[in-house]
Order: sequence, then C-alpha cells, then structure tokens
Amino acid sequence: MNFNILNIAANIETVKTSLPKEVTLVAVSKTKPVTEIMQAYDAGQRVFGENKIQEMAAKWEEMPKDIEWHMIGHVQRNKVKYMAPFVSLIHAVDSFKLLKEINKQAQKHNRVIHCLLQIKIAAEESKFGMSGIEATALLDSEEIKSLENVKVSGLMGMATFTDNVDQLTEEFGYLRRVYEELKTQHPDLQTLSMGMSGDYTLAIEHGSTMVRVGSAIFGARN
Ligand SMILES: *Cc1c(COP(=O)(O)O)cnc(C)c1O
Repeated sequence: MNFNILNIAANIETVKTSLPKEVTLVAVSKTKPVTEIMQAYDAGQRVFGENKIQEMAAKWEEMPKDIEWHMIGHVQRNKVKYMAPFVSLIHAVDSFKLLKEINKQAQKHNRVIHCLLQIKIAAEESKFGMSGIEATALLDSEEIKSLENVKVSGLMGMATFTDNVDQLTEEFGYLRRVYEELKTQHPDLQTLSMGMSGDYTLAIEHGSTMVRVGSAIFGARN
C-alpha cells in the first residue's frame, strides 16, 4: 500500500477502506502534535491511542470531548489516576495489582473502565504481557469478582517487530487460540486488539477486532 505521509486525512481513508467494517481502528497519535491529530479528527476519526499517560491527558484536555482515548502503552500504577477520569480503554493490563489500582481510581470517578489483558506473544524480551495461563487464572479468580469498576473486555498482543510472515502467523494464531478458548468461559470478552501499521492485514486474517495504526496514518515518528 502507498501512504502519503503528508496527507493524514487520505491515509485515514486508505486504512479504513482496507478494514472490514466490524474492525475498530485506533489511530495511534503518540508523539504527534494536536494540529496533526485534528486533521484525523476532521476526517472523521474518533478513536485515538497514546502510550504515555500524561501526554494523553494533556491532549484530552485540549481536544474535542467526543474523542475516545485508548491507553495502549505499559501502565505504571502510580499514574493511573491521571487518566481515570476519561480513558475509554486500557489495552495493556498485565497484572491483578494493576487491575486493582484501575478499579480504585475508576471508583473515585464513578466509572467502569474497560481493560484488555496484554498477552505476551512476541519473541522479544522487551515486550510486556501475561501468558495465556496467567490470563486464564486471573479471569477465573475470585478476586476479580470484587472489582466492580473495571471490566475486562478482551485481549491485546504485540507481535515481534519482523516481516517474517510465518512468525507473525504463529504469534497471531496463538493469541487467537487463547482468546477463543477464554471466550467459551467468559463470553464478555469481545475485543481482540492486535495489528499495527506493518501487520494489521495479517492480524485481521487471524481474527483481530481492533487494530492500532500509527505510522501508516501520521507518518514516521522521530
Ligand atoms: C506505537 C504503537 C503502535 C503503532 O505502531 P505503528 O507501527 O506506528 O502503527 C501500536 N501498538 C502499540 C502498543 C504501540 O506502542
């Protein structure tokens, strides 16, 4: 695909046209200025993803209030409070402790915050996430039932940064199997967040319902 890096509205259109209509596009706007994000907004995009809590909070304050803000990065527990008033979906929950903190901060704002459990699918050491077994244990636990202000609504995964299709197929396939299996016991799971600029077409072939696309829309980041 050819993306015109100067034309954000056209890039949004190009990406959207290539997505089945049931797949949600999260436009990953991290590091990008409000003026550029507004070009995507004016093209109709309403769901944006950021990976730093304070940066997301600053953009939330400045930008139109009908935007859905997704936290897609690793979350430090002491910063949850800054996004609790407004965040729509937290993609990378990887521990019960974090879920408990999100619950506590959500309660203060009388909200139920939707969360995805991050599953580690990449070979790289640097990527965060739980194993399928840990996620199952968490969802089956008694403790999770006491958390009334969070709702685990799906899984998220980040594949290895590679163009090796066999490896990506393996990693997306694994996440899909974990998701399908968990869904039989937990039908509330509705979202499978996988796929980025380089691999979202393949991720959709493997059952992704939500793609997180940054550079294909906004151009390369510094
Ligand atoms: C930055 C980021 C993306 C978007 O990456 P692109 O390759 O620019 O599309 C997606 N998911 C996560 C978790 C990210 O940090």
